Amino acid sequence: AHLDRISAVDDRVRAFLHVDVEGALNQAREVDRRRAQGEPLGPLAGVPIAHKDVFTTRGVPTTAGSKILEGWIPPYDATVTERLRAAGLVILGKTNMDEFAMGSSTENSAYGPSRNPWDLERVPGGSSGGSSAAVAGYEAPLATGTDTGGSIRQPAAVCGIVGAKPTYGGSSRYGVIAFASSLDTPGPFARNVLDAALLHEAFSGHDPMDSTSVDAPVPPVVEAARRGDVAGMRVGVVREFAGEGYQPGVLTRFNEAVELLESLGAKVSEVSCPNFTTALPAYYLISPSECSSNLARFDAMRYGLRVGDDGTRSAEEVMALTRAAGFGPEVKRRIILGTYALSSGYYDAYYGSAQKVRTLIARDFTAAFEQVDVLVSPTTPTTAFPIGERADDPMAMYRADLCTIPANLAGNAALSVPCGLAPEDGLPVGLQIMAPALADDRTYRVAAAVE
Ligand code: GLN
Repeated sequence: AHLDRISAVDDRVRAFLHVDVEGALNQAREVDRRRAQGEPLGPLAGVPIAHKDVFTTRGVPTTAGSKILEGWIPPYDATVTERLRAAGLVILGKTNMDEFAMGSSTENSAYGPSRNPWDLERVPGGSSGGSSAAVAGYEAPLATGTDTGGSIRQPAAVCGIVGAKPTYGGSSRYGVIAFASSLDTPGPFARNVLDAALLHEAFSGHDPMDSTSVDAPVPPVVEAARRGDVAGMRVGVVREFAGEGYQPGVLTRFNEAVELLESLGAKVSEVSCPNFTTALPAYYLISPSECSSNLARFDAMRYGLRVGDDGTRSAEEVMALTRAAGFGPEVKRRIILGTYALSSGYYDAYYGSAQKVRTLIARDFTAAFEQVDVLVSPTTPTTAFPIGERADDPMAMYRADLCTIPANLAGNAALSVPCGLAPEDGLPVGLQIMAPALADDRTYRVAAAVE
């Protein structure tokens, strides 16, 4: 049914970069066979899933939205992919994304933008916009994404679905094509909170293949999603994330969600996190710095594209020609920015200062979580914007992640759940719920109450 739906709508939505019809049917038959043999299978066995094209999938093309990886077929699975295969989920295909996960709209994909199923002239968010569009458009019941600065929560919010950024290190980065390694976090997309929790649980947990993986029990997210009561919970509204620059209808629905939590017995208070306003500039130094280092591996020798290798050119020339042709403008912008910020003489002023700001943001969270159990804010300042509106204005694009970036810099858990439609445009609004590291279950508990 999902393959039929994909063939009916995906020429308009363009959520997928690759649909694996044969592979999906084979995996579905395999699950039937395992079930018939009496093998104990998890709750998601046989459920189809779409993977963001940043996860390596054995034998299935993986591009990270970039020309530089066109035609590359990974010889191995990411841990997330492998665990979900083992749990019997059926891979429908790979979803579109901003190149190397840099962006908030999928317009930076080398393969053209995906579209928001609510309004095909608008973006589905990004960078995991193919995954959010696939789930919102009923092409897949579940999808994976990665969140470095908001790339799961922001697309989930503007597509009216649930998306979670687990605690950093709670989900494995092994086999996730790296953007900014201290921030990248795989997470789930689903159409309701319980489905998201089931998926979260299915791929989470310690992985010796990822050196930053946390060796701790998976937070009880499924139980929390089933429970969903907030009586007595202390909910802090982030003072800095409201007011100017926010679409009025976003604030209307956000305030209603807070009132709903209060009516369900939560204790609501306002909490100030003064350093959150500096998260955006800190992020746009730290993430390009890490990206400039990570993307050095695309050297025209090891994977994908190779340009100008006609026997007359040096390896350096082939590398330069390949990177010039293979990377898009946003990726080049970030490599240049990151290389500059890391260069000797500037390192302390830029990268060093950004790291200090990162510490201040983490301290804001620590202080806040002494007063409250969770923090809430709108997930995004606006609803889905029209395709093209911010394409030539990087600063306007970057502001889409104003509210989501602090949780990445601190590494704690956060989730976006739909909280209604903005009255002025009828488009979905997301409520962001943030909790301390390894308290992901709190975000699911609050989300289930709002849903
Ligand atoms: N939009 C942000 C960026 O462009 C975040 C992306 C992400 O989370 N991968 O970097």
